[in-house]
Amino acid sequence: MSNTITIGATRFTVEFRASGTSHKSKAYVWGHEGFVKEKQPAYRDDGTPEGKAASDKAWKIYRKANAAAKRMVLDVAMQRAPTDFGKWVYSAKAGCGCGCSPGFTSATRGYDVFITGAK
Ligand SMILES: [Zn+2]
Repeated sequence: MSNTITIGATRFTVEFRASGTSHKSKAYVWGHEGFVKEKQPAYRDDGTPEGKAASDKAWKIYRKANAAAKRMVLDVAMQRAPTDFGKWVYSAKAGCGCGCSPGFTSATRGYDVFITGAK
């Protein structure tokens, strides 16, 4: 089952894919970058301990803002939800133990939710 939502100028496709009941429902958001309220820090610091500390701090702030933007999109997308998912919990390792697929998990089972913003 697929739906669309529009936030600002961005149109998102919201797909609720049946996943069975063996694991918690998961939700992934892409295309939300325009709603992140912090600038992405540089990947490299200046090599000093102070520089590394400042970089770590900047990335922590950015990751938090990035997750907040995803949650904002998720909250709107849930207007199309086929069931009550209750609370979605952010997890950096929702989709994979290495951290490559951050997302949200819900104790309500049965769906994988893919929310994709059009470029
Ligand atoms: Zn991974």
